[in-house]
Amino acid sequence: MNALSPKTIEFIAKPKQLLINGRWEAAVSGKNFSVTNPASAEVIAQVAEGDKEDIDKAVKAARQALESSAWAAMTPSDRGKLIWRIGDLILKYADELAELESLDNGKPFTVARAADVALSADMFHYMAGWATKRHGITIPISASGGNYHSYTRLEPVGVVGQIIPWNFPLLMAAWKLAPALTTGCTIVLKVAEETPLSALRLGEILLEAGLPDGVVNIVTGFGETAGAALAAHPMVDKIAFTGSTEVGRLIVKAAAGNLKKVSLELGGKSPNIILKDADLELAIPGAAHAIFFNHGQCCNAGSRLYVEQAIFDEVSEGVAEIASHIKLGNGLDPQTQMGPLVSNTQFNRVCGYLDSGYQEGAKAICGGKKREGAGYFVEPTVLVNASQQMKIVQEEIFGPVVVAMPFNEVDEQLIQKANDSIYGLAAGVWTRDISKAHQIANRIKAGTVWINCYSVFDAALPFGGYKQSGWGREMGAAVLENYTEAKAVTINIG
Ligand code: ADP
Repeated sequence: MNALSPKTIEFIAKPKQLLINGRWEAAVSGKNFSVTNPASAEVIAQVAEGDKEDIDKAVKAARQALESSAWAAMTPSDRGKLIWRIGDLILKYADELAELESLDNGKPFTVARAADVALSADMFHYMAGWATKRHGITIPISASGGNYHSYTRLEPVGVVGQIIPWNFPLLMAAWKLAPALTTGCTIVLKVAEETPLSALRLGEILLEAGLPDGVVNIVTGFGETAGAALAAHPMVDKIAFTGSTEVGRLIVKAAAGNLKKVSLELGGKSPNIILKDADLELAIPGAAHAIFFNHGQCCNAGSRLYVEQAIFDEVSEGVAEIASHIKLGNGLDPQTQMGPLVSNTQFNRVCGYLDSGYQEGAKAICGGKKREGAGYFVEPTVLVNASQQMKIVQEEIFGPVVVAMPFNEVDEQLIQKANDSIYGLAAGVWTRDISKAHQIANRIKAGTVWINCYSVFDAALPFGGYKQSGWGREMGAAVLENYTEAKAVTINIG
């Protein structure tokens, strides 16, 4: 196992406080909560337990910063450079951030380093460019009674509350913070109680980059207390949430008080469709990657695998073969390919879905159970003998469990099955027939369709859901809509 670096040991030993108005502070209540390493279930740190009063302080700091000359009068060019610098510092501290991510979330260090940290830096670098490139337009209008010059200004939506989950703690912070900063908003970020460490380190990086006080405030604490207070706060103009569909609904209700704007990136139960003409040397490992990446704890996981009958056994057994060779272990061990689930709650939830699947008649052709001993490990699992109405096919498991089901041909019925979900986040299609690929992609009700690949993310590509997978988009130019108000100015020039 890799030993932790001295930097990480030093960071872990420091008090974990809230970042409010550019300073680190204890929670008003003085309370802390414990954070555990999911690979061992041992407590690794105590973190300040922010609550309603802390959220209120953070929102007031963000409100003040919004109008401050240090932020409001910063030129777009300087704002862009500052955001770029954050990306550079993430890369400078990449190993440290990846260690924290592995320790706190359980994912392999190598994955955290290559994916989470690298994509987080990309997000800041990509968004830095928008600071100088997004602008209003002039509009010729036909209104009578004057000679008008009309133009639009794109202004920051204001104080933004951002609530993020534990599956990609640093990356979700980057997805949220970078576009809000580029548009000139100020922010209160509420990180997930399971995984607060990397965002707190990111807070230090933001200060090192020179972000003015109060522009980003970070509150650690629980969802029902700190999160709910942020969603309901009357001085917050917009709430951006990533997490479960269930909590998404609570956020919408809480936001109704002052009708704050809301964007949501929620659950998924994504269909991954393999046609019999597909290149199986690509499709089989692709289907395994689609579900097992990040231990299946991805909202876009390809968790419903539809395979054309003629190749069903070859594909399901091929994915099972890959699954059975995945090495489970502590994320800091360089040999580890899959770590534990993030928490005991998630562990019980995934095991509950496995039991429900077996009761309804599904069968595991590999894995299928928890690993005995310390830590929250579930074996990568392929389930067969499943039908469309089973809970394991309809509900999001959020673990390393894929349900493989055969289909007879590419027809209306297949499209209906693929779309038979309350969710609509992502989908995969594997075929050599480019016409069929386009036809299926056009008919799938999902925000992302991958053809002959899966889970390809890029800061420039919009990501988000149809149906109950969410409102609005993350990343790309599309996310900037979440954080801007368009103001139309009309002058009678006579
Ligand atoms: P998961 O089910 O994947 O753990 P959640 O949707 O419960 O995801 O949590 C995602 C984020 O939402 C976390 O930061 C959590 O603290 C927060 N959260 C949970 N409940 C609420 C709530 N009632 N109001 C606001 N935020 C919440």
